[in-house]
Amino acid sequence: MKITQKHLSLGKLARGGEYGKDTAGKTIIINTHKPWEFDKPPVRIIIHWIGPYPGQAVSTPWNWWENGSDGGGVRASAHFIVKDADVIQCLPLNEVGWHAGDSRNFDSIGIEVIPMNIEGEFSKLSIDTLKLVIQHIRNEIGNNLKLERHFDGVQEKDCPRFYTPLSDMVTREEQYNHVPMQGQERWEKLKLFLNDWKPE
Ligand SMILES: [Zn+2]
Repeated sequence: MKITQKHLSLGKLARGGEYGKDTAGKTIIINTHKPWEFDKPPVRIIIHWIGPYPGQAVSTPWNWWENGSDGGGVRASAHFIVKDADVIQCLPLNEVGWHAGDSRNFDSIGIEVIPMNIEGEFSKLSIDTLKLVIQHIRNEIGNNLKLERHFDGVQEKDCPRFYTPLSDMVTREEQYNHVPMQGQERWEKLKLFLNDWKPE
């Protein structure tokens, strides 16, 4: 696994900036002097999907967070974006990201996965890469970081939808094998696989 590092630049909303006005009343980004750093080491890893937008490159969400539609960026970020064998790191591991929609931003590392279809299914290769990224994070921060979904937060967002109870899709493979699964079962199975490793 090769991680491409492309950190969000200083001075953008995703790194702690805020909208304000300049003396002429024009909207600008203020408070951009410093990214937010974690007060204490993160305790969880939160998994997301960039959805429902299959087929994007890993750099596409990065570019949106960084630039938005007006070059100023948007207040969204995560530490990693995964698609198949590609990984891009968008924030250093000591910085707070804007992905969880709740206070978990301040104690978590966020990983976005680009799905292989609009239902949000992760490709086998993406899942293998995700596992390596999780191992990397645990090696860097600590082996006890637990795995959660965006869904597990206060908003119960449908993220990553295919691996939540909000997905009622049955895949072709499941139909073929006569083992239709619920989104929650898929998550339990995915989590078992991702957690099945030995610390270095
Ligand atoms: Zn999410």
